[in-house]
Amino acid sequence: MDKAAVAADLQTLLKQPVIIDSPMSKHTTWKIGGPADIMVFPTCEEELCALLPRLKEQGISWLVIGNGSNLLVADKGIRGVVIKMGENFADSQWRGLTVKASAGMLLASLALEAAERGAAGIEFARGIPGSVGGAVRMNAGAYGSNIGNYVIKVEGVDYDGHRLSLSGSELNFSYRDSSLFGLDAVVTYIYLQLLEGKRDEIMEKMKEYQQKRFLAQPLEYPSCGSVFRNPANDHAGRLVEMAGLRGLRIGNAQISPKHGNFIINLGGATAQDVRELISEVQQQVYEYSGVRLEPEVKMVGDFD
Ligand SMILES: Cc1cc2nc3c(=O)[nH]c(=O)nc-3n(C[C@H](O)[C@H](O)[C@H](O)COP(=O)(O)OP(=O)(O)OC[C@H]3O[C@@H](n4cnc5c(N)ncnc54)[C@H](O)[C@@H]3O)c2cc1C
Repeated sequence: MDKAAVAADLQTLLKQPVIIDSPMSKHTTWKIGGPADIMVFPTCEEELCALLPRLKEQGISWLVIGNGSNLLVADKGIRGVVIKMGENFADSQWRGLTVKASAGMLLASLALEAAERGAAGIEFARGIPGSVGGAVRMNAGAYGSNIGNYVIKVEGVDYDGHRLSLSGSELNFSYRDSSLFGLDAVVTYIYLQLLEGKRDEIMEKMKEYQQKRFLAQPLEYPSCGSVFRNPANDHAGRLVEMAGLRGLRIGNAQISPKHGNFIINLGGATAQDVRELISEVQQQVYEYSGVRLEPEVKMVGDFD
């Protein structure tokens, strides 16, 4: 791919500058990842309707990201185009307890807005550092709830540039999963129906959840949150800890001494370090308990 020529062509469709060889370590909470060939920052749905068919015509692969808080990007980076849904696509419109939020909005900001309006339900989301689009795709959740419980509709744009609209029930939300994974589409807007609540009580609940996080999670280090999915009726972190793996280190990636399901970047960790650590944990947990842990984190890009 002639990156300069492709970038120049895409720039004719987009307001924000198109970036060549953008280091993905700047776009992931793990602070890991090599360069994306090309990175774009759409500002509206119309731009996506023009961009996606152009990529399809030219046979260029693409990946949409939000806040990069559930991604392990390869050290060699990502070939093709990364579509970043971020601060240029991040407003919200409220009508009573219903909100239409743009996909690039931070989930934590949406949770705070909800609290201020006395809209209950997504208190759990205040400490999740993802975008609204990434949260819906992942069905992000915590403390017994998840975003899918409140989604009434999702809008997006598909690879042909067509707008699509799916109801919450069509999205088949399940544990950290939704049918959006089967769609070649960029989520642009989500609609949530929240519950009547009291501002102070909602704020109090959020504070309680935040305190639990600060106590249990190594938030002072770059990470992707939970690396492994919890197996049925158990916790991945417990299994890692039972296998005696807290503190295990490969390169500059380490199983957090504070939380067995977090791999922290001690500074300069590579995707290869993390991958090797994930494999080591999977093997040792399997040997110790017979459970095969599955990663929750999405591994993307040019892995060998
Ligand atoms: C400290 C910490 C704590 C965390 N705690 C939790 C927690 O309690 N609960 C929890 O569920 N998760 C948690 N996470 C993980 C993560 O924040 C969530 O999975 C979050 O929903 C990911 O959102 P994102 O915008 O960062 O998505 P990304 O990591 O950017 O992408 C994740 C997936 O979503 C897709 N995607 C992103 N945006 C779009 C879009 N607009 N349209 C279509 N697809 C899209 C991507 O292609 C990718 O497949 C935590 C992470 C950290 C770092």
